[in-house]
Amino acid sequence: MPRDPQFDILFEPVRIGPKTAKNRFYQAPHCSGMGWGWPRALAAMRGMKAEGGWAVVNTEYCSIDPSSDDAPHPYARLWDARDVKANALMAEAVHAHGALAGVELWHGGAYISNLASRRPTLDLQSLPSRGDPVQSKKLDAADIKDLRRWHRDAAARAAEAEFDLIYVYAAHEYLLHHFLLPDLNDRRDAYGGSLENRARIVRELIEEVREASKGECAVAVRFPAAHVGGPGPSDDEISALLEHLGPHADLWDLVVDDYSLEMGHSRFVSEGDAAARLIEAKRLTGKPSVSVSRYTTPDAMAAMVRKGALDMIGAARPSIADPFLPKKIEEGRPEQIRECIGCNICYASNSRGAPIRCTQNPTMGEEGRRGWHPEKVPDKGSERAALIVGAGPAGLEAACTLGARGYAVTLAEASDRLGGRVTREAALPGLAAWGRVLHHREEKLTRLAAVAAYLESPMDAAAVREIGAPVVAIATGARWRRDGIGRWSQAALPDLAGGPLFTPDDLMEVDGLDRLPLGPVLLFDDDHHYMAAVLALAAAASGRETILVTTAGRACAWGANTEEDYRTNAALIEAGVRIVPNRAVDGFDGKRARTRCVFTGRAEDVSAAALVCVTSRDPSSSLYDALIADPEGLAAAGIETVVRIGDALAPGLIAHAIHSGHEFARELDRAPTPMLHEAPGV
Ligand code: ADP
Ligand code: SF4
Repeated sequence: MPRDPQFDILFEPVRIGPKTAKNRFYQAPHCSGMGWGWPRALAAMRGMKAEGGWAVVNTEYCSIDPSSDDAPHPYARLWDARDVKANALMAEAVHAHGALAGVELWHGGAYISNLASRRPTLDLQSLPSRGDPVQSKKLDAADIKDLRRWHRDAAARAAEAEFDLIYVYAAHEYLLHHFLLPDLNDRRDAYGGSLENRARIVRELIEEVREASKGECAVAVRFPAAHVGGPGPSDDEISALLEHLGPHADLWDLVVDDYSLEMGHSRFVSEGDAAARLIEAKRLTGKPSVSVSRYTTPDAMAAMVRKGALDMIGAARPSIADPFLPKKIEEGRPEQIRECIGCNICYASNSRGAPIRCTQNPTMGEEGRRGWHPEKVPDKGSERAALIVGAGPAGLEAACTLGARGYAVTLAEASDRLGGRVTREAALPGLAAWGRVLHHREEKLTRLAAVAAYLESPMDAAAVREIGAPVVAIATGARWRRDGIGRWSQAALPDLAGGPLFTPDDLMEVDGLDRLPLGPVLLFDDDHHYMAAVLALAAAASGRETILVTTAGRACAWGANTEEDYRTNAALIEAGVRIVPNRAVDGFDGKRARTRCVFTGRAEDVSAAALVCVTSRDPSSSLYDALIADPEGLAAAGIETVVRIGDALAPGLIAHAIHSGHEFARELDRAPTPMLHEAPGV
C-alpha cells in the first residue's frame, strides 16, 4: 500500500548542520543495559532501528571520562582509544541502512557514584549522589579545564568512530545542567553569576566539540525546555537561556527535566503530554528541534510537525516497541505498528544492570544475541500442526509467531475473551494501555489464515488428546495465591482465611470490586509492583477506607525501576490510602488483621473487614501435569511435543510471558540459537 499523503510531511529530509537526516524519525538517546558491556549486541539492536527506517539513531549516555561512571548500570563509554572500536560497530550498523548515528557525550556530575572507577564525582557543589553515601567534589577551575578537554577528546574519538552527530548533554540534573541553575551555581568566576556566565560552559562545549570533529559532525544539545516540580528555573529563565544559546547548536533536543513525566509510565502520562511549551522553546532556538513524548500514532506526529512544535519526532520507547514504526507508516500499514504500552520494563532492565527487553517486542535486545528479527521469522521446520491452550499474552504470541512461520495452529481459550491477564488488567484504573498487547496480536491474527482461535473452549487432557495435534503448548497462565505464600513467607498462612479474603483475580472479575464489603479494605502487598497499589486506588475511589500493608519500605517499591514509585505513592496518599510499610499480614478474622513488623516480628492488629492478598502467583499447570502423566495416551493421540509457556511455566511480568511464547514458537523444530557470549569491549 502507498503511504497516506497526509504523512508525507514525516518523510521530508531535515538538515542538521553539516548532515541531512533522510526523514523526521529520530531515535533519541536511550539506555540499553548493554553500553560498554555488550557492544556487538548493542550494535545489532541500533542497526535494527536504522533498518526499520529511523533517520537518526543515537547511543545511550556515553561517558567521557572515568570521573563519570554509572556502575552498575551499563552506560556507553568513550574514555580512550580502546573504546573507539566498540562504538564504531554501532555507527557502522546504523550507516548500513542509510541512517545517521549520534553519540550522547555525558558527564553525570553528582547524580552518579563512580562505584567502578572509585574517583570522586564532580559537581557545582559537594552534593550527595542519588543512590550511595558519597558526595561529589566541588569543581575548581582545573576541573573545568579537564571537563572541556574530556569533551574535546571524546568528540575526536566519536568522529573517529564515524558518528555523524555529537551531543552536549545539559539536562536531567547531570553536570552541565547544574551549571545553568542559579541555586546551585555559586561560582564567582566566568562560569557563574550572570546568565551568560552560567551558560558559558555549554556554549564553549558546542564550539569545542564541533572543532574536535573538524566541523564534520552536527552538534546537538539536550536541554530542559521546561522545569517541573521542586525548586528550579522559571520558564522565563529557561527562555532566556534558550534564546542566548539557540543559534549555536545544530539541533535542540528539548526535554522536560523530570524523568517520571518525560518518560512517564502510562498509568500517569499519555502520548503527547510532555509536548507543552515545545512550540515556544523551538521558536526561541531558531534551529531544528526534536523531542520525545511516546508518539506511536502518525496523526499525532504529523500534527506536531505541522503546528511547528517539532522538526523531528523523537522516540525512545516507540522505537523499542517497534523498530519498524517508520517503515510501517511509509509503506501504508500504520495499523501494524506494535504500539508501546508505557510500562517502562525497557528502562527497568537498565535500572537492574541487564540488557534491554520490551513487553511488546520480544526480539528487543535479542537481535545480536540470538539473531532475532522483529519482522522476520524462520520458515516452519516441519508440517506438524500445533495446539495452543490459553490465549493470554504467551499463547497469543506463540500463535502469531507459529502462524507467521507457516504452521497450522489451533488456539483454544476457556473464557469468552482473548488476552488473558492483559484483558483483565486493562480494565483496572490506569492500565488501559495494557490492551495494546492484545490489539497488536489480534490485528496479526486477522492476517494469519492458518491460525484458528476458539473462545469458550476449556480444554482438559481428553480434549487435547482428541484434537491430537503433534505439538501442544500449554499457556494456561497463573492464579494469584490466597494462602499468603510469597516473599515474606514460603509456607502457607492458614490464619488469613478467617474472614472475607480476596485475590486480585477475584477483584478483576466483572463487578469483582463490588464484592468488597463496605468496611475497611486491607491489601497485603508482598509483590511490590503495581498490582496492590492499583487495586488500593480502585478501592479508595469507590469510597472504601483502604489500607495498604507492604513488606517493602514503600508502596510499589519495585516501581523504582520503572519510574512509577513516586507517582504511585503520591496518588495513594492523595487518595487517602493509609500506607503501612515494612509489615506483613499473618492473620485475619473478618474484623482485624494481624500485621507483623518484618524486622522485629512484633504483632499489631489493624481493623479490616476484607483482606486482599497480593503475594505471589501459582502456575496453572494441572492440564500439563495430566498430559505428561499419561505418555501412552499422548503417543496414541499422535502428540509428540508438550511444553508449558508463559506464566504456566514460571509466573512473571507480561514481558516474560510474551518472550516465552515467542521463544517457543521461533525455536520450534530448529536447533536452539546459542546465546552470544560477549566479553566486555572489542
Ligand atoms: P500468560 O500470561 O502466561 O499468557 P494468562 O493468565 O494471561 O497467561 O492467560 C492464560 C489464559 O489461559 C487465560 O485466558 C485462561 O482463560 C486460559 N486458560 C486457562 N486454562 C485453560 C484451559 N484449560 N483451556 C483453555 N484455556 C485455558
Ligand atoms: Fe514501551 Fe513497555 Fe516496550 Fe518500554 S517495555 S518500549 S514502555 S512497551
